[in-house]
Amino acid sequence: MYDLLIRNALLLDGLGSPPVRGDLAVAGGRIAAVGAIDGASQESLDAEGLALMPGIIDNHTHYDAQITWDPWVSPSPALGVTTAVIGNCGFTIAPCKPGDRERVMRNLTQVEGMSLDALRAGIRWEFQTVPQYLDLLERRGAALNIAAFVGHSSVRTYVMGEAATERAANDAEIEAMRNIVLEGVRAGAIGFATSTSPAHNGANGLPMPSRLADDRELATLVGSLREAGRGLFMLTKGGHTQMSFLERLAAESGRPVVVAALLHSSTQPQGVFDDLEAIAAANARGRRLVGAVSCCPLSMDFTLRSPYTFEGLQAWKAAMPLKGEAYARKLADPAFRSAVREEIARPEHFRLFNVEWHKVQVVESARPHAEQRSIAELAKEAGKDPLDTMLDLALAENLDTVFSALLLNSDEAAVGRMLRDPHALVSLSDAGAHLTFFNDSGFGLHLLGRWSRELGVLSLAEAAWRLTGHPAEIYGIRERGALRPGYHADLLLFDPQTVNRGPNRRVFDLPAGQPRLTADAIGVEGVWVNGQRITDENGLRKSGRLPGRLLREFSA
Ligand SMILES: [Zn+2]
Repeated sequence: MYDLLIRNALLLDGLGSPPVRGDLAVAGGRIAAVGAIDGASQESLDAEGLALMPGIIDNHTHYDAQITWDPWVSPSPALGVTTAVIGNCGFTIAPCKPGDRERVMRNLTQVEGMSLDALRAGIRWEFQTVPQYLDLLERRGAALNIAAFVGHSSVRTYVMGEAATERAANDAEIEAMRNIVLEGVRAGAIGFATSTSPAHNGANGLPMPSRLADDRELATLVGSLREAGRGLFMLTKGGHTQMSFLERLAAESGRPVVVAALLHSSTQPQGVFDDLEAIAAANARGRRLVGAVSCCPLSMDFTLRSPYTFEGLQAWKAAMPLKGEAYARKLADPAFRSAVREEIARPEHFRLFNVEWHKVQVVESARPHAEQRSIAELAKEAGKDPLDTMLDLALAENLDTVFSALLLNSDEAAVGRMLRDPHALVSLSDAGAHLTFFNDSGFGLHLLGRWSRELGVLSLAEAAWRLTGHPAEIYGIRERGALRPGYHADLLLFDPQTVNRGPNRRVFDLPAGQPRLTADAIGVEGVWVNGQRITDENGLRKSGRLPGRLLREFSA
């Protein structure tokens, strides 16, 4: 007797095979049979006209903090995600000594756009070490399966305290960090994550700790994965980090390397393709590198109170530690503005903002005539410089003006090429972070709806593989990511004619009533995690036990 029988679905096996019409049976949380199935079942469901695929594996999320207060990990499960990898870019909350908690929360507030009030009210600090954090996740449970990285910036803060954001580490400190990485990976972390990106700044605009690491520190920490014999290395790469260095780390550790964030820039259109070519060349020499790409245009809503869009600029550093009046005076300062103008005029391999003022829109303003118009337009009309136009408008409105900037990944021809690249991994949702700036938690539904159905860039079978079997293989996630007998029953049932992510909307449901952007699924009929249904056509079913597992065992 099966627990569940889904009949007459278009089966997408997650391995890229051509779709076939058939049935799928679930028993004891696993897929019991696939094909034409005869047999009794507790529950059966006619899926005529619907497609069934493995649940989406979201390999780039930042749910490390949220998951301690929200085991439903909103909004990902309702958007078809059944496994999430947390700790990306090395921005974790473990390990952490009690005295460093405030520092870690302030860093997350800045670098991942998480409300400090929400973090203070929400995080359950029932751990200090990585193994203790993993135990907490296991004890608390979650709606979806979780795999966690050991995060470099937290490891560095744990070992070096305040000096983590100030200097390179000495031999003893590197050795201590190495032991923590090894301990974490042996306890079940999926690997080691870091960032060398200049866009990643913590409290007061200081660089996130991992950015202070020298090559020796990185080589030692990544090298510990060889000793562990498991785990992968992910990094968000700054322009100065050479692909040849990453290839060396891949060679020395013998482990896979995920290189983020390959986002297409219209002003440096060749940059990401150079990176993908370098990755292909390294792989031809026997390494295992993959480039993390996004299927979503990167657009950010922001106010000048917290303009993540500009905070990666060297010239903006002067403003970041300032508050109130002093901050406003800095934004008005002609010398500050000239320095910013000079910097953005210089070409750069990777930068969030690339002087595309026609892509910066005013969304909310006290001056209705300015709304829905671009800074380029408003500047032209006023006969003013665009940077002055944006800053003057914001200063005149007490910095309450809301802008939206379409920053990267908006050229669909280029992004389509990236999504089909054999060395690319569909990634970068950043779910759980930048909660008021953007929301790409529904990236998987967007891939199915936009890139497969509407644009035909990927077949439905290939899109499903990119979201399931492909990441499962790279991350060594066992017995998931395919519709195969014996595999865990993580499933997504959807209507291929309508599937998509809905528009973003603002809700105020974070701890301390803080806001975030969320979106609803379109065309999702059901999501199952380990055989338990967690959503239906009305969205999340927040009842019953939490079916997700903490994943601790990965294939080499
Ligand atoms: Zn990230």
